[in-house]
Amino acid sequence: MVRPDHAGIRAAALSHMSTNTPPEHDISHARLDWDEQGQPLSSHYQEGYFSRHNGLAETRHVFLDHNRLAERWSALTADDEFVIGETGFGTGLNFLAAWHLWRQLAPNGARLHFLSVEKFPLHPDDLQRALGLWPELDNEIEALLQLYPAMQNPGFHHLKFDQGQVRLTLIIDEACAGFSQLLLSHHPAWQLPQRPVDAWFLDGFSPAKNPDMWRPELFELMQRLSTPGTTLATFTAAGIVRRGLATSGFEIYKGNGYGHKRDMVYGHLVQAAECPAPSTLPHNAFNAAEPAPWYVNRDTALRYAAPGIEKTQPQPRHAVVIGGGLAGCHSARALAERGWQVTLLEQQPQLATAASGNPQGVLYAKLSHRQETLSDFNLQALQFALRSYRDYWAQGIGANCGVLQLSVDDKTADLHDKLIAQLGQQELLQRVSAEQASHISGVACPSGGLWFPSAGWLEPKAVCEQLLAHPGITRRMCEQVSQLSFDDAQQLWRLQILHPQSPHQESRQVEAPVVIIATANEAREFFPQLPLKPIRGQVTYLQATPGSQRLQTVICGDGYLPPAVHGQHCLGATFNPRNLDLTLTEEDHRLNLATQRQQLPALADSFSEQRICGGRAALRCTTPDYLPLTGALPRYDQLLEDYALLRKNARANIPFAGDYWPGLYLNVGHGSRGLVYTPLCAELLAAQIHGDPSPVGASVERALHPGRFWIRDLTRNKR
Ligand code: SAM
Repeated sequence: MVRPDHAGIRAAALSHMSTNTPPEHDISHARLDWDEQGQPLSSHYQEGYFSRHNGLAETRHVFLDHNRLAERWSALTADDEFVIGETGFGTGLNFLAAWHLWRQLAPNGARLHFLSVEKFPLHPDDLQRALGLWPELDNEIEALLQLYPAMQNPGFHHLKFDQGQVRLTLIIDEACAGFSQLLLSHHPAWQLPQRPVDAWFLDGFSPAKNPDMWRPELFELMQRLSTPGTTLATFTAAGIVRRGLATSGFEIYKGNGYGHKRDMVYGHLVQAAECPAPSTLPHNAFNAAEPAPWYVNRDTALRYAAPGIEKTQPQPRHAVVIGGGLAGCHSARALAERGWQVTLLEQQPQLATAASGNPQGVLYAKLSHRQETLSDFNLQALQFALRSYRDYWAQGIGANCGVLQLSVDDKTADLHDKLIAQLGQQELLQRVSAEQASHISGVACPSGGLWFPSAGWLEPKAVCEQLLAHPGITRRMCEQVSQLSFDDAQQLWRLQILHPQSPHQESRQVEAPVVIIATANEAREFFPQLPLKPIRGQVTYLQATPGSQRLQTVICGDGYLPPAVHGQHCLGATFNPRNLDLTLTEEDHRLNLATQRQQLPALADSFSEQRICGGRAALRCTTPDYLPLTGALPRYDQLLEDYALLRKNARANIPFAGDYWPGLYLNVGHGSRGLVYTPLCAELLAAQIHGDPSPVGASVERALHPGRFWIRDLTRNKR
């Protein structure tokens, strides 16, 4: 296949926007000057990113040595994790140097999380230029450059390296705002981390040049995100920093600074932050300063609540995943990468037979110029999915041929214009004209649209197969879970298994401390109160014509049309919440063809009924706000009782965290976006289960929370 000149299109698209209308997007890149030695300087802060003498040696002296990383990492075991928190990702030098050392010292199986906030991210071109200074770190640099977010939009960007053994969570935000997303809640009683930091790299420009960052709130937040023994190191010995840290429970020492700097500071936490006991706080129907913390899972929150308490994970680390579609397979893989033994149960003889079962799934995101959770989550999930599927595309599972979202009508064109006016033309997505769209796609497009050059399509079944190819995962096909019950005495889930394909086989029981339900609409068989709604979708298989064979990218708009594979297109899909019968209908085939004829009139002849060679119908699983239900599941009856005051006042004073089913998690409701949503949702879930720092931040976790509709209904007095 001849690929169109994407680089040329990109350049044209980028210049198209950058002439006289400066984009109003809220991505504030770092503005750099370069000194005569090729070192980056911040024009904003008027300071260098690292010591002019030798930035790498400075990093090693200040951050690695004074946090005693070599000594601590040499003592780790294969089951251990280590979490670093950094202010100011900058060029990523500290991360790269730490990762380089980790590769030398940490045992196989141990895992490093590097959490870094950055208010002014470097543009990828600047990053590459700055990192050219450190040939010693070439391997790590190359890997970082490959995965550095294509678009540096505000929020969480989670990057996995070394098969998930090293993770970077780059939080593009102001330091306090970004780190506060790592607390489970802002409610005074529950300001706890999901996983505390083990070592802090307090970087950032000097307090004299950057006083806004070195605020008491930052030090207080560090204390909340630490546990006694957490260490810190910083290049500055300014009084404001020493005093701030000391006031926030850190014991600090002065050390020799690097290069021309006389002193630096290092230390460790001696006094953990305290939260008032919920029972000492008001509980009534008056307005509360902070909303009720129903979204906090009391049991997991208490893992670190008291100083010295070790995190408690279920032992053994065994989980059962119910459901062998994309949600189940990604969830199983995310846990297996954390050293868990996972058993995946699927009632069908094959993986990905329900909503994940189409031969071609498209990576397609729903973005909006408005600041709204659905759009932010789509952007975050899309970028994570694109990083996750790189290897799959490299193996030929689908194609990253780009996705073109056509501006099918004036309203959509206006939305696309507004989106790009807000975001600016990006590596990730660009606004293209009809002419450019036609050139990119190889077929005549009546309108322009949004062009996602790094997206594409995948075969979900093959993705699922690959995901389960991990020694920690056992799959059991033709096993249907007919009953799920929790044994309080043993603190275990018992699953009753049937064999729908061979009914004479005896049923059996499986036990596990952790269960993930990834059965889409069928989750309601276990929990009928879940607000899931099936929506039928039918795809049509169509013999390609010489004209349609010229299509080189995925086209979407009202429906989608990926390039032909083996002379056949899979186009879709209908959207019908009323008919739940899976028998294929002629009417739906005709609907699919009509949609494409309207979308691509130049190819109208290709979409004729004579060319239909099959199809497939399945039920999408959707939720009222089209975001998935991902996370731990509260006990429904208890939730209604504990938060009953919300019926009287949606802002009632309720200081208590939620009562959840121990070890029970949900990953459902991905609608038509399973390929995009499930990789990140699986990471979120595995982080909750294993006790890792959140890969998405507390706001997103709350937006996906499985109990959100129950609480919403309570506040509207509808439950
Ligand atoms: N650690 C970096 C490295 O390895 O290249 C060098 C960091 S540089 C000295 C300081 C960084 O802190 C800059 O990238 C700057 O944009 C960032 N920064 C400054 N103030 C900040 C704030 N309030 N919140 C988040 N990041 C901030």
